[in-house]
Amino acid sequence: MPDGLVTPKPATLRSVSALIEAGLAAGDTRAALDDVAARYAIAIPPALAALITTPDDPIGLQFIPHPGELTIAPHESADPVADEALSPIPGIVHRYPDRALLKPLLACPVYCRFCFRREQVGPDGGLLSDAELETAFAYLTSQPQIREVILTGGDPLILSPRRLSHILNALAEIPHIEVLRIHTRAPVADPALITDALADVLDIKTPLFIALHANHASELTPAVHTALEKLQRRGIPILGQTVLLAGVNDSEIALGDLFRAMLRARIKPYYLHQLDAAPGTARFHVPPERGREILANLRGKISGTALPTYIYDRPGGLGKIPL
Ligand code: SF4
Repeated sequence: MPDGLVTPKPATLRSVSALIEAGLAAGDTRAALDDVAARYAIAIPPALAALITTPDDPIGLQFIPHPGELTIAPHESADPVADEALSPIPGIVHRYPDRALLKPLLACPVYCRFCFRREQVGPDGGLLSDAELETAFAYLTSQPQIREVILTGGDPLILSPRRLSHILNALAEIPHIEVLRIHTRAPVADPALITDALADVLDIKTPLFIALHANHASELTPAVHTALEKLQRRGIPILGQTVLLAGVNDSEIALGDLFRAMLRARIKPYYLHQLDAAPGTARFHVPPERGREILANLRGKISGTALPTYIYDRPGGLGKIPL
C-alpha cells in the first residue's frame, strides 16, 4: 500500500472470484466480469457488502460489476467533465475562477460502477508525491481569485490523518482561500475509517464542509450516523450529494426516503446529479424529464430543506447548470 493511505484496511471484496464466492455475482458471467475487472477497479468493503441482498438491488447495482460496462455508447467519454483539459498541473482542476479541485489521490474505499472518473480511479492510482503536492500549493497560492478548494479524488478521507493534516494546514495558510470542502464516500463505504484522530484533523479554523455521496436511504446505517456524528460534534457541516441512477433511486419513494434519511442524519441534501456519460454506464441513465418529474412530485410532499438542486455537469468542461 502506498505511504499516506490509512492502514490497516479492513477486508474488502476486490476480485470477481471473491464476489462469486460471496454469492454477490453469478458464476456464469465470470468471463465477462473478468474482462470488466481487467478494465475497471472493483472494491466492496464489508459494511456495504452486508447491505446487498441481490446483485440487482439498489446497493448491489451500484457496486457489483456488470457485463454491460463493456458496452460503450457513442456519446460516452473517458473524461465526461473534461478534468484533463482543465488541469494546469497534476492534481489540480481549475474549472471556475473562484474554485479549484485538488485531487491528492485517485483511490477510493469502494468503486462505484457509474463513476464519472472511472477511467482514472483505482487502488494504485494517483497519490500525489510530496513534490507534486508542493507544486499544487504553489499554484493555488499564485491564483488569488481562488476562494474555495475542493479536495476530491479518489477519496481524500482514506488518506492517513498525518497526510490529510499536512494538506489542510498548507491550504489554510494560503490567505485568499476562505473555504475548504471535501468530497467523500468513505463514511458510507467504511464508517470505521472515520476515527477520532481523523475527525480531529478535520477540526480546523478555516471553514470546512464535507460533501457526502449517498444514493439510497439504506446506505445511512446506524454505523454511518455514528461516523458522521464524530464530524458534526466538531462543528463540520455535511452536505448530501446524490447521483440519479436507474434501478437505484429513480422513484419518488426512493429519493423521498433518501432525502428524509439525510435530514435525520443532519445532512443537508445539496445536489442531485444527472448521471455523467462515463463509459459503460448507460444502464444507469435516467432521462432528465423523469428526474424533473420526480422532484416536482416531491415538492410539497417533503420538507423544502430536504430538496436538493437537480444539476447537470455539461460535457467538455462547460460547468454545471440546474435542470
Ligand atoms: S467513491 Fe466517488 S470517485 Fe470513488 S468510485 Fe465512487 S463515485 Fe468514483
